[in-house]
Amino acid sequence: MTWCAICLRKERGFGFSPRMTGYRDLPDVKFCSMSCLNLYAALFRKGNGMVDLTDLERASIQSCLKPLGECVAEIGMDKPLSAYSKEQVLTLIEVIVTAYQDAMRKGSPEVPF
Ligand SMILES: [Zn+2]
Repeated sequence: MTWCAICLRKERGFGFSPRMTGYRDLPDVKFCSMSCLNLYAALFRKGNGMVDLTDLERASIQSCLKPLGECVAEIGMDKPLSAYSKEQVLTLIEVIVTAYQDAMRKGSPEVPF
């Protein structure tokens, strides 16, 4: 079974082939609807499927490094991620998401309050 590349519902026969636009190394992708296909095509045209980060988003991502390092150190620096328990992975995700959201909420000149 194949899933929609945008919303992860079951795909329903809508497809996009990057090869048709000259990107031979990118795989074909499937969608559940024309809405999801059109959104993907718009994102693809804007930046080959990637959305450019704003300065605030990039700074907020960097602000996650310290809490991420502290969390990993607490779990154990020698422990590979594949050996983390489900609870440890969820804690790590929560630490990173919280740090990112906190940094985003602080705002910047690009985000008026
Ligand atoms: Zn979809």
